[in-house]
Amino acid sequence: MGSSTDRHPGEILRQLPQVDRLLVDPLFAPLIDEHSRAEVLEQIRMVLDDLRARGAKGQITSDDVEPSAIEKMVRVGLTLAAIPYYRPVINATGVVLHTGLGRSPIAPEVADQLGERVRHPLRVEIEPETGQRGGRDEGCAALLRELTGAEAATVVNNNAGATLLLLSALAKDKKVLLSRGEMVEIGGSFRIPDIMELGGAKLAGVGTTNRTHAADYENAVDDDVAMILKVHTSNYRVIGFTEEVDIDTLCEIGRRTQRAVVHDLGSGCLVDLAARGRPGESLVRDSVAAGCDLVCFSGDKLLGGPQSGIIVGTKKAVDKCRKHPLYRALRPCRLTYVALEATLRIYRAGPDAAIARIPALGRLLATAESLEPRAEALAAALHGIKGLATQIEPHGALAGSGSLPTREIESRAVRLTSDRHSATEFAALLRRGARPIFPIVRDDVVRLDVRTFDDEDVPVIAAKVREIFG
Ligand SMILES: *Cc1c(COP(=O)(O)O)cnc(C)c1O
Repeated sequence: MGSSTDRHPGEILRQLPQVDRLLVDPLFAPLIDEHSRAEVLEQIRMVLDDLRARGAKGQITSDDVEPSAIEKMVRVGLTLAAIPYYRPVINATGVVLHTGLGRSPIAPEVADQLGERVRHPLRVEIEPETGQRGGRDEGCAALLRELTGAEAATVVNNNAGATLLLLSALAKDKKVLLSRGEMVEIGGSFRIPDIMELGGAKLAGVGTTNRTHAADYENAVDDDVAMILKVHTSNYRVIGFTEEVDIDTLCEIGRRTQRAVVHDLGSGCLVDLAARGRPGESLVRDSVAAGCDLVCFSGDKLLGGPQSGIIVGTKKAVDKCRKHPLYRALRPCRLTYVALEATLRIYRAGPDAAIARIPALGRLLATAESLEPRAEALAAALHGIKGLATQIEPHGALAGSGSLPTREIESRAVRLTSDRHSATEFAALLRRGARPIFPIVRDDVVRLDVRTFDDEDVPVIAAKVREIFG
């Protein structure tokens, strides 16, 4: 074999094998078997292009143009190309419901059921008794009625869709009263005033940013008003000299003035988190009991299920939503119904079962002390890597996705200090490959919050860090 100094790059490039020759070279046969001729061909072309580019800069040796060297690069390229875009990652950010990482993880038992059922035709919108069409969302609706105490329920693609639908169905061309303290913008350009305009409703602000009183609503009710809307201030809190009107009072005003009252809860809790040390979110059941016409919330926030928008309330109001043309446009995928039904069934077993079996709840409610063994296991697994120092530290985790806003949850993180990489470089290396790890990078330090991953992820993280320090 040649060495790097023996020949001129131009001369080396002339040794570059032809694509056609490589494709019939027995070296490449196993790759073609494993992948396909088309994929191998694409990768060979890319590798040859790369070699030509490097050759033009004088950066290749005659070893690089050997078919065996090309085969190695093609193999690496094929492996990288086979990594799916939507790949499993390890969430070490300490943000339990991380929108960038798909919000709430699906419970393992729910994932198993999904895996089994997606392969078969599914009873979705048909009555087995009669063979007649109907009942598309009834599987979830029955459970939602039971779990929230509502008279009726339905499901759409997400809570933004739910809000749009209920405004269109109940308040088109009419005014909707909303406190100026609740004109929220949720991440990803979801602004309540915009959704209202899109739904054809007219926003009528009441009160001021920091204080809204019951009388403000009462005085604003005129002939044009169809709805009183309350929106959970998911990603901020108004603190200081503040006042807001609770949902019971709004429902009382609604009854008296015969206007619809709607509560957009954002997160939609079915278990009492405040009683378990995580205040800040009200229960769906409480808003229903207060007498709301409709209550809407997300399926993939604190509920711990698939992306979906859930609407519960009176039969009359829910039926109006179901009959609206937008309902068809916002209809979820059958996989959503399967995952949501399976998640809701877990709640039937009671709050303790839900916390034990739904990862989003378990991760949110875990005490800092209960996380220490995992932090210690991770630090131990990383022990002895040359160039790496680890330290267990307290860390402020977050619920995320606009749940329990601005309330830090005492957590534990492992701080990783590399003497070879900057924090940014180190984090980028952690995020590379088939199973990226998403760390916290702050103040030029890399930390892994152990609240948001599982014990079984510890060896995976350790293997990756060892690979980085090779
Ligand atoms: C998150 C949130 C939404 C949007 O819900 P998606 O399910 O993300 O569409 C709407 N309203 C409030 C108050 C929220 O917190």
